[in-house]
Amino acid sequence: MTARIINGTELARSLRTQAAERAAALLKEHGVRPGLAVLLVGADPASQVYVRNKVKACEEAGFHSVLEQLPADLTEEQLLARVQALNADDSIHGILVQLPLPKHLSSHTVIEAIAPEKDVDGFHVSNAGMLMTGQPLFIPCTPYGVMKMLESAEVPLRGAEAVVVGASNIVGKPMAMLLLQAGATVTLCNSKTRELAAYTRRADVLVVATGKPGMVTGDMVKPGAVVIDVGINRGADGKLCGDVDFAGAKEVAGAITPVPGGVGPMTIAMLLINTLEAAERKLGARA
Ligand code: NDP
Repeated sequence: MTARIINGTELARSLRTQAAERAAALLKEHGVRPGLAVLLVGADPASQVYVRNKVKACEEAGFHSVLEQLPADLTEEQLLARVQALNADDSIHGILVQLPLPKHLSSHTVIEAIAPEKDVDGFHVSNAGMLMTGQPLFIPCTPYGVMKMLESAEVPLRGAEAVVVGASNIVGKPMAMLLLQAGATVTLCNSKTRELAAYTRRADVLVVATGKPGMVTGDMVKPGAVVIDVGINRGADGKLCGDVDFAGAKEVAGAITPVPGGVGPMTIAMLLINTLEAAERKLGARA
């Protein structure tokens, strides 16, 4: 039996429609559009595609959006000054600095300069701490999108064995925290994990975010498991592929997300939701 496909494109579309409706209500009631500023330093081709998609999604939802394309040799001081200006700009409710930054800039310093109430990526240490303690202001968009997919696919999490492969600050760690808070028993694996397959094979819910194409194969998946593939990699043939060997895993899993059309579109939808909620909060239209 092949796995049920969890379609991120469809779910993301419906969330984006909801965001557009809520944005229209905010405009009507408060005369304000949710505003997102995206800062892109340098000309990394993948980053250019990502930021373009984010800005386009904002425009389609009726948000105000600003894309600042800054030169790769910008100094940290200049970048921090841009962030400070956006912190003070009332038309901007969310600020996103596209990562990775050029080597001479510290992403930590720059992210810490974003006002936490505008940190729609949820990467600021204060927002990471709020999430860790179960009172999130912003949930990082990718793991937030994964939780929405699990919810819409009605995947039971309470008491489930969840394994997250990949422990970055932006995906793996917040993902593990969200699954834990939903009642799952969570194992967080990294590149030093010995006998990775022994962990992945126990997972009722397996989330993979390593950036290593096809590294989780069908034999590493428990029959009937739900497999969420966060990876976005460009294969030698130029096509996008995930961190899971989709063809092999779908023969074993109960449900699986594709790449493309899985977690990727959800990340953008959750960015809109976070920006909208930042605006609603500022206007007192939200608790
Ligand atoms: P990072 O490179 O920051 O982190 C990768 C993590 O995977 C690290 O914790 C690393 O371990 C771990 N890892 C690497 N190799 C292995 C291995 N062989 N076995 C077990 N763990 C391993 O990546 P990101 O978290 O930023 O991104 C991961 C993937 O998700 C990428 O493909 C990226 O493109 C994609 N992505 C997709 C998004 C979306 O919208 N769908 C958004 C963000 C990312 P260690 O800590 O030991 O180094």
